[in-house]
Amino acid sequence: MIRNATLPDGSRHDLEVKDGRIVAFLPPSSGEPALFVMPPLVDGHIHLDKTLLGLPWVPNRAGDTVASRIEAERGVRAERTLPESETGANLVRQVMASGTLHMRCHVDIDNQLGLRNLHEVLKIRERFAGLVTIEIVAFPQSGIARSPGTAELLDAAIGQGADLLGGLDPVGIDGDLDGHLDTIFTIAAKRGVGLDIHLHDGGEGGIAQIRAIAERAKANGLGGKVAVSHAFALGSVPLDLAARTADFLAETGVAIMSHGPGASPMPPVKMLRAHGVRVFAGSDNIRDAWSPFGNGDMLERAMLIGYRANFRHDDDLAIAFDMVTAAAADVLGLAEYCLRVGGPADYVAVEAGSLAEAVATRPRRKLVVKAGRVIARDGALVS
Ligand SMILES: [Zn+2]
Repeated sequence: MIRNATLPDGSRHDLEVKDGRIVAFLPPSSGEPALFVMPPLVDGHIHLDKTLLGLPWVPNRAGDTVASRIEAERGVRAERTLPESETGANLVRQVMASGTLHMRCHVDIDNQLGLRNLHEVLKIRERFAGLVTIEIVAFPQSGIARSPGTAELLDAAIGQGADLLGGLDPVGIDGDLDGHLDTIFTIAAKRGVGLDIHLHDGGEGGIAQIRAIAERAKANGLGGKVAVSHAFALGSVPLDLAARTADFLAETGVAIMSHGPGASPMPPVKMLRAHGVRVFAGSDNIRDAWSPFGNGDMLERAMLIGYRANFRHDDDLAIAFDMVTAAAADVLGLAEYCLRVGGPADYVAVEAGSLAEAVATRPRRKLVVKAGRVIARDGALVS
């Protein structure tokens, strides 16, 4: 029994849990200090194969372009003293302790790596089965045209356990909008899987790529199974163009992921939602060759998104919270996600009086509970 819990909608209840399920929401008992109880946090965009967590500090040596970061990562990879399955497992343990129990992981695939990183992340998924869900995106980090053989590897990756097709700046990296998109949409349609495409390209050129993605989503009947990650372009063009693009995204069911970028233009989250676009959040890079920052704490991510978007009111903070909980769960297609009678007793409790306070102060996770069992307490995993 969790007594006197404040839920995300502001209501107070005692939660009765039995056999790993929530069996009742009862009137709140008084006396004990109340905890804020939320569903598990969801990381809609993480790179478990890139993180260097557990290795000695690696200075960032990349230049300022996506291409130079791709190149720098090859050098870092060659110096690793721990396999990706170990550093990635370190990251999974860290995010579990901060309340994340579901994630979408992009895995690098190119003609040098082959499916090596996929196999490393499959080991992680196996190791944490029953505790966290890990959805895998086969991600062509080096491009497709630039890395001959990658298309065949992406197709093989789906056969070996990846759940979605990825993509990367069809114009900015491959210089071939139709070639890049036709390749991944053909594989996705053949395999019956969704797509989540990294798009850093900005301005009207970026908008044209977003529209081309949405057109293909519609043509292939993949509405609701396609996402564009970053979509900086939506934040770098006049608002009326972004709004027209938003209408098309809503019509075609294409979702947008933002991590609340520090320097790049951020998609206008509130406008997108007002136009019916599903907007969700992820950590993106955590302590890797791309970024020295990040810790996988999705409450902190919600705070960063709110900070970046100039959110101040409680209603705004609720949007940031939605992006790391229900909206992300919806995009990931998590069937049983939410706190409800009969649902799994998966929840996170913190010392806060409301959702807005939890986002603003991102308190230490008092309890992380999976199927009624405490898996982390006071920010640390239980054994
Ligand atoms: Zn990414």
